[in-house]
Amino acid sequence: MVYEKQTEAIRNCCKTLLKQDKVDVVLGYTQSSLDELLIPFFVRKVEDIDKLAWGDQCWQNLAPYLHSRKDRVGIVAKPCDVRGIVQYIAEGQLNRDQVYIIGVDCAGMIDEEGNPRPGCDECRVHAPPLFDTHITDDRIPQIKAAEKKSETVQQKHTAERFQTEIDKCILCYACRQACYGCYCKTCFMERGTPDWLPAEIDSAAKKTFHMSKAMHLAGRCVECGACEAACASGVELRYIIKELTDFVEDNYDFQAGMDLSAVSPMVSYGDGDKEIGFLGGDEA
Ligand code: SF4
Ligand code: SF4
Ligand code: SF4
Repeated sequence: MVYEKQTEAIRNCCKTLLKQDKVDVVLGYTQSSLDELLIPFFVRKVEDIDKLAWGDQCWQNLAPYLHSRKDRVGIVAKPCDVRGIVQYIAEGQLNRDQVYIIGVDCAGMIDEEGNPRPGCDECRVHAPPLFDTHITDDRIPQIKAAEKKSETVQQKHTAERFQTEIDKCILCYACRQACYGCYCKTCFMERGTPDWLPAEIDSAAKKTFHMSKAMHLAGRCVECGACEAACASGVELRYIIKELTDFVEDNYDFQAGMDLSAVSPMVSYGDGDKEIGFLGGDEA
């Protein structure tokens, strides 16, 4: 019932946006013809609005579709998508006035067995931190209260399982392609000088890729889980980036994508900055 209500509210908002020529296109979700999934959908004509849908299968992060766009876009955005959008604006990749955010409260996306999808299993942000229209979900206060209670039993992430996870990796880069934050035209792995790209997929190349990617996402990860969802080899490396996310939050009081006016610690420098070693170790 809650999803029907949210779908109706999304359709009404999008209809107004297109009719009043406030946007050129609306980006949302529609029912896949192949399975239960709700897949990304671009709407340019009012008559297609009723194809828009919302539910617990909208797990794909839509923020990457906004990168490099020049037109005016209305976007149906979950909190993790909104965090990516905020980061794009803060990083100069998108103008605030070209995007209309229909921010939707999110109780969590589920897989075929009904379990929380990667990202949703550890989600801390169920309401959009920025929006032009807010589509609410009455279940969110209850979900937040339950999460607060279980905080203390959450497992502490460690770097110990790195090799086990790396062994499963086939270096296909699907995780990179799925991440809102990986938008370099040419990834460092493919630049040629120096030549990081191996002739064979060896352990060293995989470590180089994953450690460097983690550093590039330090203080930028919006915890959407799209990287793990995209990995066909079942590699679970989000925990490394989570370590960096916690480090940035603990030491610099910064959470990616939550506040348009907050300055990211990775792009600011001050005389009083703490000199902390990698992941809190001794100073180098
Ligand atoms: S990570 Fe959070 S906001 Fe994103 S889909 Fe999962 S529950 Fe929703
Ligand atoms: S972690 Fe998975 S998606 Fe990423 S490069 Fe390795 S196999 Fe591909
Ligand atoms: S690293 Fe993974 S969880 Fe973080 S923003 Fe990128 S896709 Fe999302």
